[in-house]
Order: sequence, then C-alpha cells, then structure tokens
Amino acid sequence: MAATHTPVLIIGAGPIGLALAGDLGWRGVACTLIEKSDGRVEHPKMDLIGVRTMEFCRRWGVADRVRDAPYPGDYPQDYVWLTALNGYELGREKFPGRALEALPKESPQKRERVPQDMFDPIIKQWATEFPSVTLQHNTELVGFEDRGSHVAATVRDTGSGATREITADYMIGTDGGASFVRETLGIGMSGHPALTYTTNVIFRCPNFAKLHDKGLGYRFIFIGPEGTWLTIVAINGGDRFRMSIVGSPEKVTHSDDDIHAALTRAMGKPFDYEILSVLRWVRRELVADSYGRGRIYLAGDSVHLTSPTGALGMNTGMQDAVDLGWKLDAVLKGWGGANLLATYEIERKPVAVRNIKASTDNLERMLAPRTTHKPPPEVFQPGAAGDAARKQYGDWYTELMRHEWFMNGYHLGYRYDASPIVWPDGTPAPPLEGQVYRQIARPGARAPHVWIGEGRSTLDLFGKGFVLLRLGVATPAGDRIVRAFAAAGVPLRVEALQMPAVRALYERALVLVRPDGHVAWRADREPDDGAALADCVRGAGRLSQTQAIERAS
Ligand SMILES: Cc1cc2nc3c(=O)[nH]c(=O)nc-3n(C[C@H](O)[C@H](O)[C@H](O)COP(=O)(O)OP(=O)(O)OC[C@H]3O[C@@H](n4cnc5c(N)ncnc54)[C@H](O)[C@@H]3O)c2cc1C
Repeated sequence: MAATHTPVLIIGAGPIGLALAGDLGWRGVACTLIEKSDGRVEHPKMDLIGVRTMEFCRRWGVADRVRDAPYPGDYPQDYVWLTALNGYELGREKFPGRALEALPKESPQKRERVPQDMFDPIIKQWATEFPSVTLQHNTELVGFEDRGSHVAATVRDTGSGATREITADYMIGTDGGASFVRETLGIGMSGHPALTYTTNVIFRCPNFAKLHDKGLGYRFIFIGPEGTWLTIVAINGGDRFRMSIVGSPEKVTHSDDDIHAALTRAMGKPFDYEILSVLRWVRRELVADSYGRGRIYLAGDSVHLTSPTGALGMNTGMQDAVDLGWKLDAVLKGWGGANLLATYEIERKPVAVRNIKASTDNLERMLAPRTTHKPPPEVFQPGAAGDAARKQYGDWYTELMRHEWFMNGYHLGYRYDASPIVWPDGTPAPPLEGQVYRQIARPGARAPHVWIGEGRSTLDLFGKGFVLLRLGVATPAGDRIVRAFAAAGVPLRVEALQMPAVRALYERALVLVRPDGHVAWRADREPDDGAALADCVRGAGRLSQTQAIERAS
C-alpha cells in the first residue's frame, strides 16, 4: 500500500501533541497526529493551566472555552497543611475560586484550575476543527527512519495489528516521558532519575467536605511526626480527589492496603470512598541531552520530566509547542532559514533545565518537615503548648511554601537572550526572576502586555507572522525592515501605537516581535542593514550571536 504523506507527523496526543497540532492548524499547516490510545484521559495528572499557557489559549481563541470548563469557579483554591483532616490545621494560604481570582497586572489572562480530563478535550476539539489537522487514535508508532529528504514512519493499528507507512517532512515526538521516539534516536536524559516513588489514587467521595472541619480547599498537605507524607487535591472541585502518597527515592510499591491505610489516616477516621484509578509513578528531574536529530524533534515530557510542584510540566511543554510551531510553519512555507529549527533546542532546553530545578526546589521545600525541619512533638499534642507550637511551625511552613504558589518569574519570565535569532540591543541582561515577574521588552523576552483598548491587549497583536511595532509619535516608518522582510518572504505586519504606556514599557520606538510573542529586535531608529536583521530573525543569519553583539554595541 502506498504511504500517505503529511508535512508534519506528530506522535502522541497528550496536551503537547494536541497543542502543537492545533498551533500548526491555526497557522494553516497540515499535520497528522497519531495516538496509540483511544484518547480517553483515564487518570488526569495536570490541573493547573499556567498564565502563559492561558495567553496561548487566548491567541488561539480558546481561552473562553478553558474558562468555561466545568471546574466550579467559586471552589476555594486554598492550600492547607495539617496533621489530618480531623486533626490539627497548621496553616493555609488562602486563594479564591478561579473565577474570583484577579487578573495579574502583567497579563490579560489568569491561570486556571482545569484538570487534564477537562483541558485535553478542549484542545482536541479546537485542534481538530482545522481541516488541515488529522487525528488518528488507536495508532501507534512502531518504527521510523530519517531518510534525509523525509521521515518514513511505520504505524500500527492497535485494534487489528495492521501496519502501514506514513511519510512526513518532519516528525515530532510528543510521546511522553517514556518516549519511543527519543529512545529509538538513542537520546539520553540527564539529571535525577528518581526523586520519589509516588502513588496517585483518584477517589470519589461526594460528601468529603462534610467529613471534616477544614472546609473546601484545593490542596491538603499532610504532615506527621515523620514529616510530609501525603497530599490530597480537589481534582474536579466536586466529588473527585487525588491522593498522592509522596514516597521517597527508595523504590517502593504501595500496596492496596497501604492505600486504604493512607486514606483513613489522612481523614483521621474510616470513611466511605470509591477508588477510581491508581497510578504508580516516579518523580524525576530530567532533561533530554538533545531535542531531536535530523528531521525529528521532541517536545513536552519526552524531553523534560519534572516534579509537578510548581505546575511546570505541561506548561513548559506548551512553550515548546509554540516555539516549534512557528518555526515549522516558517520552514515549510519557505521563509524560515536553514538554521531556524536548530534554534528550537537552543531556546527551549535552558528553560527546561531551569524549570525542573525550580520544581525540585519546591519539592524539597514541601518535604522539609521530613528532612531538615522535623515538626516538634508538641505540634501533635492538645493544649496551649500544642497550639503555640502549631502556630510557630505552621507560620514557618506557610512562608516557606510561598515559593511554589507564586512563580510567574518562571511561567512568564523565561527568555531567549542567547538565541542566535534574537538581535541583542546592547543592554545588560537583568537576572532571571522566580517568584516575581517584571515585564521587560528586551530582545529575547516575552513582549509585555499593556491594555490598548476595551479588553484588548498588546498580546492580541502577536501570533501569526512578525509584527513591527511603531511606538509613540514621530516614529521612524520602519521601511528598511518592511522592504527586507518582503524581499525574504517573511510575513510582517506594522502596527502603530501612540499610547505612552506602551512606549514606556517597550522602551524603544521600533520593536520587532516574533510569531511566538517574543521580542526579536528593538531600536529607536531604522536598522543599518534591514536584510541582515531579517536573515538573523528567520534563522538564515549571516551574523553569529557574537557578531550581532559586537554590532549592537
Ligand atoms: C500528579 C501530577 C500532577 C501534574 N500537574 C501538573 C500541572 O498542574 N500543570 C502542569 O503543567 N503539569 C502538570 N503535570 C505534568 C503534566 O501532566 C505533563 O507534563 C504532561 O501531561 C505532559 O504532556 P505530554 O503531551 O508531553 O505527554 P503525555 O501527557 O505523557 O502524552 C503522551 C501521549 O503520547 C502517547 N504515545 C506514547 N507513545 C506513543 C506511540 N509510540 N505512538 C502513539 N502515541 C504514543 C501516549 O499514549 C500519550 O497520550 C503533572 C504531572 C503529575 C504526575
């Protein structure tokens, strides 16, 4: 049988494969996404859609669908630390329901609590609305070969066992942590392979909140005399919860008896529940040594595995998908330079390295009661002395855990300063931030958000093609850039904005923003050589990064 051909073959329809397929469809690029399962999310893992991911959803026109997902908007998102649900509360960080949370001043979107079994179907529905996107379930990649001019993939129908060939200009492995694509390419991962052996249990308990006095909350962290041992999160803001027996770096398999004992201990008394699914997994801190070979690239969990403490798993993968999406579009449409796709790893790998480390730091803070700061015995005793000990210990833990709850420096502040397709402006790079995020428009950074009209953000200007912002009054026309981009076939739109707030934040009269919403170049006057700038930002640069720095200074 003749092979079918697709420009981009994506392996694995988890959130990252779905998002990449959707981004390509949104750009008018044809792709085929194959998924070995039937597409049902049996065991939802992620549930925090970070603010940058929500900005992507806004760009794609699906932010409202995510907002309207059935996780109740008024369900309090408190984080609570306690000895047991019918024991002592040690402290809490209060957060309102997601619908009641204020917008951060740096973004037109806020993060959303939407678990994977609600989020994936939204992205799937959106992606498959594009006629150029083909999704095939029950289709497993079982072999592939990079033939130089194309990739030939052998896929198997998981029902009949029949195999067939699909050829593609590019193949992308979004096939998760155990990535067959990465393994077959022989690409290793570096870091810590086993932080904890953890058991997740999704259980149903409709009257959960009535069984204790701690009220509604999103995440309960349980601390016993031995330290942090368990978490329970409200997975759907209703009747379903996820218990995680945190475990340790030593290999352990929690038995069914362990699971029942943990649930009873957490509640502080026996109670009725129904176990829906159990997932035994290893918490890792790993980044792939390479993000692909030849015509094959990797994204999402196939290249970075992290502790979920900080919600930087899927949210980091979403950034991969967006970085890769516009570059594949550019190359397939002919305006991307020969080096453009190579910049995917250069830009994205350092972000993953930083994010997985931050997530492990969060884990270490969460586990500090087990390791460095064992709770004093009084914490578990009644009476005034116990109350005082709980207050002191709880306040310390509350302060410590704030690192994890406030992470916009990671979610929004990632930058591509050292990328060869970013033209430096000669200003020194400020340090990367973690807990706080200050918007900057330095080349490499996410172009800042400023409201420019009723419900309209600067971010709404970006996405398809490059955008040249002409900011303020008496601004150069940008003709050299317009001519050079037209000559190279690079899509460019010019947007003139006179609002002082935009000019002040972007700091220059001319600012060039890439299709992914990162600043590529900025200056107060036309570039000396428009063609060199166009070639630099489309990955066809005659200039190396060092040469560009010399040129800018
Ligand atoms: C407890 C927990 C909580 C988490 N919470 C968050 C959170 O709040 N926010 C966050 O950002 N992240 C979170 N994460 C991480 C997040 O779940 C992952 O980063 C995310 O699911 C990765 O998506 P992916 O698409 O890369 O991979 P996956 O979700 O693993 O999807 C890979 C897909 O590829 C398919 N596949 C594999 N091999 C093949 C093949 N050969 N052929 C065809 N298909 C194949 C698989 O069936 C699967 O559907 C959490 C993780 C855990 C464990």
